[in-house]
Amino acid sequence: MEWRGRRGSSNIDDRRGMGASGAGGLGVAGMLVVLAVGYFFGVDISPIVNGVSQSQPGVERELTAEERETGQFLSVVLADTEEVWADVLRTQADMTYRDPTLVLFSGSVQSACGGASAAMGPFYCPGDQRLYLDTQFFDVMEQKMGAGGDFAAAYVVAHEIGHHVQNQIGILRQVNGMRAQASQTDSNRLSVLTELQADCFAGIWARHASERYGSISRADIDEAVNAARAVGDDMLMRSAGRAPMPDSFTHGSAADRSAWLTRGMQTGEMAQCNTFAEAGL
Ligand SMILES: [Zn+2]
Repeated sequence: MEWRGRRGSSNIDDRRGMGASGAGGLGVAGMLVVLAVGYFFGVDISPIVNGVSQSQPGVERELTAEERETGQFLSVVLADTEEVWADVLRTQADMTYRDPTLVLFSGSVQSACGGASAAMGPFYCPGDQRLYLDTQFFDVMEQKMGAGGDFAAAYVVAHEIGHHVQNQIGILRQVNGMRAQASQTDSNRLSVLTELQADCFAGIWARHASERYGSISRADIDEAVNAARAVGDDMLMRSAGRAPMPDSFTHGSAADRSAWLTRGMQTGEMAQCNTFAEAGL
């Protein structure tokens, strides 16, 4: 993706240099709150990394050149999502897009959904309409999951933005209402449908960004589809040494995640991303 020299978004709250003091007290209860109401990317990286946190309590530090560059890249991706979704929501849903804030952190963070550690992967909190991301996650994707490349990172952001769009159009509220009364298996199924729709929305973004900016290549698309496969529940369960159990999936199989991302890319239409209707709901 060609991004250098392009406009970046100012809706970024970069807390990476602040030390863990910005995270507040992180108890087990806080973690559980996040797990209940936050929307995670789907990758719990704690089994494959030790000590993802490099920040020490209260100790401020300078960002490395690489961290600064990643921040600039993400601000360009975020700006692209703002422009694309303002247009798509206006033309396809007659709504005004509300720009979310992207919070970059190191190690752990406090959100309206509770506290979270980097080991849980990136997430979106509907309560404060913010995306939370420890940029070291991209190193883990590349080194441990074989999902490298700047457009793999862009897909992660676009997926979380997809949850923000779901929040704005009322899907998250509806799904939460249904999940509250559902069995564990049905609740997991609703989670999968929510996640696959976020993947499809990420594809919509990629389609429109490619048309608007001409900065996205075939190789970029391949990187995103590869990343969507790599974070499929079956892939993650296998890499953790477990047999894939579809009833316990919460984000979707590699085949489904890549298929819905691709559908969003090919159609560019929100109406084509109705995973719930296609599941008979
Ligand atoms: Zn998600």
